[in-house]
Amino acid sequence: MQDRCPPAPAPQEEQRRRFLRRMAGGSLVPWLPAAALAASPDDTARIALPPSQAPSEVPEKPSELGDPPAQRVGFAVVGLGRLSLDEILPAFGQTRHCKAVALVSGDRAKAQKVARHYGIAETAIYDYQGFDRLADNPAVQVVYIVLPNGLHAEYTVRAARAGKHVLCEKPMANSVAECRQMIDACSRAARQLMVAYRSQYEPNNRLLQRWVQEKHLGRLKEFISTNAIHLGDPGQWRLKKALAGGGPLPDVGIYCINGVRFLTGEEPSEVWGDIDRPTGDPRFREVEEAARFVLRFPSGLRATCHTSYGAHRSQFLRLLGSEGWAELDPAYAYQNLRLRGARVVGGQETHLQPSLPEVNEFAKEMDHMAQRVRDNQRPYSSGEDGLQDQRIIEAIYESARSGRWVKLEQPSNPVRGAPPPAEG
Ligand code: NDP
Repeated sequence: MQDRCPPAPAPQEEQRRRFLRRMAGGSLVPWLPAAALAASPDDTARIALPPSQAPSEVPEKPSELGDPPAQRVGFAVVGLGRLSLDEILPAFGQTRHCKAVALVSGDRAKAQKVARHYGIAETAIYDYQGFDRLADNPAVQVVYIVLPNGLHAEYTVRAARAGKHVLCEKPMANSVAECRQMIDACSRAARQLMVAYRSQYEPNNRLLQRWVQEKHLGRLKEFISTNAIHLGDPGQWRLKKALAGGGPLPDVGIYCINGVRFLTGEEPSEVWGDIDRPTGDPRFREVEEAARFVLRFPSGLRATCHTSYGAHRSQFLRLLGSEGWAELDPAYAYQNLRLRGARVVGGQETHLQPSLPEVNEFAKEMDHMAQRVRDNQRPYSSGEDGLQDQRIIEAIYESARSGRWVKLEQPSNPVRGAPPPAEG
């Protein structure tokens, strides 16, 4: 009996399949995970074990060892709070190029406990007064600043003076003036400066950025997003203006601002803002409870966003284009992001929900920093990216005060370094 070829798909069906393939990030079987997106072209050590799954299954990834310890880039972690202890220090184990080699903390007993756990020498524990002695520790190449926002500028400048590269948590600082000081200090010391915008290194965000770049959504019309959390203790630094810089706007609203800029590659020309400061609530004596804001972009795109410290956790973004929509819900989270999209292809409403492999966003972000330090190249989420968010935040506050739209000049220099290599 002769083998029979399946009939060629109708042109509309072929167009639909092509769309699905592109939307899925190039995977040959579009409704399966684009496994290649998890793999990276820069691996130094991979071990391919014999396959154990049926050939029809998603291909198994080779085991990745990363660099041997002696070749890894050494990081000092500054400030041992929730983010450092719960996310960043554990994430070193999932990096390929990084190792934690020093700690800076105001609480020596806590730092000793953490150092023992991660095999960091007791001699590599510093306090804030002794921070500048990092200059004498050649094992430290990168200082990762995980302090309250109001301390980012001071410790970035001191780290640069100590000859170290800086990875700084978001928001970069409390003001445009501080951001500029940080950029200048790193540039004078010829050190790299990166803002820890972890979402920019996360596969769902990167795939959505690619859908936009490849015009799968058509012409972008609207970006809608919320990032809200519900805070308690009125005594915490996030509610003190000097340490936090503001309320939810610089803390979590910044994800909406950075998200629309990163995904679309556009910069706003005008912003409008409005804030709530309820009287009588001790949490909001110094900072706002909530903010809503609109960013207008030169292409006609608008971003309508909301952020709050008084609403149950809610994090999503949705991009609406002339020919399709896409959303991340949740967005901005550490894990379990869900990307969905739809458009009409070949006369049919076509939905796609790619299921990409989970990655550790902090590990990805730190590996990017390590690679840029080794290559002596500007990081993708550079200091200028953080500065641009701060310019927008200040304009939103100004608009909330004046009740008017506030115009923004387009940045004079590129805000990001070269993108990380495409994966897969
Ligand atoms: P925490 O309050 O949990 O920790 C901050 C740590 O900073 C403290 O534990 C303390 O460490 C040190 N510190 C030094 N001076 C002070 C001070 N005056 N007041 C309070 N703490 C001080 O904050 P987070 O870890 O949640 O946040 C730290 C930074 O990380 C912030 O900039 C925040 O915006 C950012 N962040 C980023 C996230 C992301 O997803 N990228 C998520 C959460 C936060 P020690 O006792 O060791 O001195």
